[in-house]
Amino acid sequence: MASTSPDSDTASDAAAAGQAAPGEAAVASAAARPATYFDGVTNRRHVVVLRFDSTLELIEDGVAVATWPYADLRAVDGAPGTLRLKCVSALPLARLEVADPAAQAEIGMRARSLQVERGRGQTGRIVAWSLAAVASIVLIVVFGVPLAAERLTPLVPLSFERRLGGMADNQVRAIFGGRTCTDAEGDAAFAKLVETLRQAGHVDMALPTEVLASPVPNAFALPGGRIYLLNGLLQKAESADEIAGVIAHEIGHVSHRDQTRLMLQRGGMSFLVGLLFGDVTGSTAVIFVTRSLFDASYTRDAEQSADAFAIETTHTLGRSPAPMGELLFRITGAQGSHTIGILMSHPLTEERRELMRREDRPATGPELLSAAEWRALKTVCRSTAAR
Ligand SMILES: [Zn+2]
Repeated sequence: MASTSPDSDTASDAAAAGQAAPGEAAVASAAARPATYFDGVTNRRHVVVLRFDSTLELIEDGVAVATWPYADLRAVDGAPGTLRLKCVSALPLARLEVADPAAQAEIGMRARSLQVERGRGQTGRIVAWSLAAVASIVLIVVFGVPLAAERLTPLVPLSFERRLGGMADNQVRAIFGGRTCTDAEGDAAFAKLVETLRQAGHVDMALPTEVLASPVPNAFALPGGRIYLLNGLLQKAESADEIAGVIAHEIGHVSHRDQTRLMLQRGGMSFLVGLLFGDVTGSTAVIFVTRSLFDASYTRDAEQSADAFAIETTHTLGRSPAPMGELLFRITGAQGSHTIGILMSHPLTEERRELMRREDRPATGPELLSAAEWRALKTVCRSTAAR
């Protein structure tokens, strides 16, 4: 989609084409977005409008019901994606809940002591990132979220990507609890396949692997490089080359940092504000990690680049990318079922099969897995119950 093109040259283009809600790119509109205020006396929810003046004014029906100095604002634990605040100079139980990312960003920029009472230990480690986040917010305001994500992605340190990947991994384990396939020979075969692809694709980072006993025909990679193969895909596959092509495509996404880019886009300001608040290990980031995992829709450009990576990598190994196209086609059929995992994120199967067929080459390299290794991989989940 055009929104991620670094060539979008006006802020309005980028904002209009992007996925961000109208107004998300303009802090000025934050004042108009309502927030929820609890006065600390009754349990009534007051819908208030925030006015960013010399203090933070909470306006209900045109009347300021509270004025909170920015220096007195403190973040307290709230629902994911929501910035929950108290004010040290107000009633102890008074709370303000801000869901609007632009308003969160505005508060983040004005209130410098939000994190005074928590996460002290984390503060040092994220100083650099906080600075980056402030800069990002400016970028987002100026260019709109998608463009900023495009520009920021190369700046995200790999170590940070790995932390994101670790969070995502926790979610995967929570969702697929106990369904990790642990057959030693099968796991070794998959690890070997991925390692072969990693070297051929000139990817510098480690790519840990895991097979999950899920019937869904899918494979995915987490930011930071962990590669997941679901048994449903494995069972549909008739050769190691078929799996290799799909996995090479996923490694392409890792190599191009598409997961991180998507997170920055989807998460937009909330995500960056989470960084600003030092909440990167907490609730804010997790939303986006989850979204990016199961609702992954990369841009068409990203998909084509990942396919190109898969084609190049298989060619480097003296293998053909055509089997990958056949596997995808077998799973989705000519029309494609958009309810199947791999198709939701990877549409246009027929077109891709044609592309892979055009790139078909006679095999000049050795088999990626021996017959015994392929058998071990196919049965890697036999002792793990699918649920
Ligand atoms: Zn893809």
